Amino acid sequence: MRIDKLFSLGKPTISFEFFPPKTEAGFAQLFQVIGDLHPLHPSYVSVTYGAGGSTRQKTVALVERIQRELGIRSMAHLTCVGHTAAEMAAILDELWGSGIRNVLALRGDPPAGQGQFAPPEGGFAYASDLAKFVRVRHDFAIGVAGYPEGHPQCLNRTRDLEMLKLKVDNGGNFVITQLFFDNADFYRFRDQARAMGIGVPIIAGIMPILNVAQIKRFVSLCGAKIPHPLLLKLESLESDAEAVYAAGVAHAVGQCRDLLAHGVEGLHFYTLNKSKATVQIVRALNVLHAS
Ligand SMILES: Cc1cc2nc3c(=O)[nH]c(=O)nc-3n(C[C@H](O)[C@H](O)[C@H](O)COP(=O)(O)OP(=O)(O)OC[C@H]3O[C@@H](n4cnc5c(N)ncnc54)[C@H](O)[C@@H]3O)c2cc1C
Repeated sequence: MRIDKLFSLGKPTISFEFFPPKTEAGFAQLFQVIGDLHPLHPSYVSVTYGAGGSTRQKTVALVERIQRELGIRSMAHLTCVGHTAAEMAAILDELWGSGIRNVLALRGDPPAGQGQFAPPEGGFAYASDLAKFVRVRHDFAIGVAGYPEGHPQCLNRTRDLEMLKLKVDNGGNFVITQLFFDNADFYRFRDQARAMGIGVPIIAGIMPILNVAQIKRFVSLCGAKIPHPLLLKLESLESDAEAVYAAGVAHAVGQCRDLLAHGVEGLHFYTLNKSKATVQIVRALNVLHAS
């Protein structure tokens, strides 16, 4: 059930990311979405961790339920925000006890309105510290985050890659990237990572563009950029929701085809708990494989 074992099979992984819904109705809807995506045989799915640990119970319960009821290999995201080492140990023990073997070790962003990240008392300051802690607690496969365009708070990209190397040296078995829309950014990042001795699989994070205002908000938060020609195209279509959707799907299909042609080790889709676009994109790629 460890995700890192999949990479040696020589086929790119296909994975889907969800966030824990706020309401019971949202949960029912999410299981419908997962049901739509299940026939694509995802290599694994992952569930995010809300700002400030706000979704702790939901994240843990959701990964356990997806894995137990649907038999899909699942990964819990975990962040350092708001947790002491003892609390983190308890979360890891619970995950391990219920058969989860994969975690994405993250620093996390501070809850809305709190400005800069502040390391919690008795907790961890960086994802690399969390990765080290996870590594000795249980034999999890550990994913870590990478930033093809640099993390928004990094001093420079080289320093950011040095910090990525530290995460991998501390136990990271694979990297999942932040969303990006220009593959040149990914290839440069991957080349530099390899040159620095980061040898683990680097999975490309893909977000289908479904709505212009929404994607502008996301990129402003995560520091990614929309290539200018794509931005102009999206803005010219903005009044026609279907045309924006079609352009977003077409861009993602083109992006993924190019990544596959350039030997990407996996594609990780930020689904935003929606299935339609992801199903269309993955089907267009013709890469379905048994999980
Ligand atoms: C695939 C993916 C999934 C994500 N899922 C979630 C989620 O579920 N919940 C959530 O809240 N957020 C999530 N995020 C967002 C992430 O938490 C933020 O981007 C956060 O700001 C940084 O997290 P990190 O794990 O990359 O941090 P780190 O690797 O700790 O890096 C944070 C910053 O500190 C710098 N740095 C790192 N180590 C050191 C060091 N030792 N000394 C000095 N500087 C250092 C880095 O260069 C970087 O600028 C996700 C991001 C990605 C790419």
